[in-house]
Amino acid sequence: MPPVAPALRAARRLLLLSNSRDPAGRYLVHARDALAAHLAGAREVAFVPYAGVTVGWDAYASRVAEALAPLGVAVRGVHASGDPAAVLAEAEAVAVGGGNTFHLLAELQRRGLVGVLRARAAAGVPYVGWSAGSVVACPTIRTTNDMPIVEPPDGLRALALFGAQINAHFTDAHPTGFQGETRRERLAEFLAANPGAAVVGLPEGSWLDARGERVTLGGPHAAVVLREGGATDAPPGAELGAVEG
Ligand code: ASP
Repeated sequence: MPPVAPALRAARRLLLLSNSRDPAGRYLVHARDALAAHLAGAREVAFVPYAGVTVGWDAYASRVAEALAPLGVAVRGVHASGDPAAVLAEAEAVAVGGGNTFHLLAELQRRGLVGVLRARAAAGVPYVGWSAGSVVACPTIRTTNDMPIVEPPDGLRALALFGAQINAHFTDAHPTGFQGETRRERLAEFLAANPGAAVVGLPEGSWLDARGERVTLGGPHAAVVLREGGATDAPPGAELGAVEG
């Protein structure tokens, strides 16, 4: 698994949310204070909507614009430009939305945007991701919950802004009578196939705030850190930098 480049790790400012909606269905409201702190000083965020599959990218960007308007931050969808790399290269902040992680990574790779996103993170430009947008910030997208509805042309390696894997929407819920694998079983398979890796299972309502080497668990819930040898709970506010190895 590729490590995070040291210069990038030292400079980065990442806000990696598990999900976008609170239990009442309100969009990006549960993490509004963290978003406000993270985006302080930015007048505009470049929004990457490529995880959206059944939602139009214009509509997706409008939804995000509405959610960020109370923070005084405008939203520019990179899809609307003929040169999304140039938009990202000039961005004051970057936001990558959720949806299907394979679709997101495939579109980033096809458009040659992986390098520019890494370069912006290494320049200390704030990066906000939620769901697929958080998983794509990891070394690979192998811990997504999504179906591989498309094939990323360059494989499953992702942005490697954060040095461990994230499983978004992490849950231990398992409906009675459901015979499919539990989430922990699926992640145990990932860890058996990728020894030495670590996964942060981020429940709904939680996020990771990575400023340089320091990584803090945000939100009111405990997360779980899974390794081949077992799992440990991390309480809200836990410092998780060591998870990256
Ligand atoms: N489909 C999720 C999202 O972006 C990502 C995941 O569950 O891994 O909302």
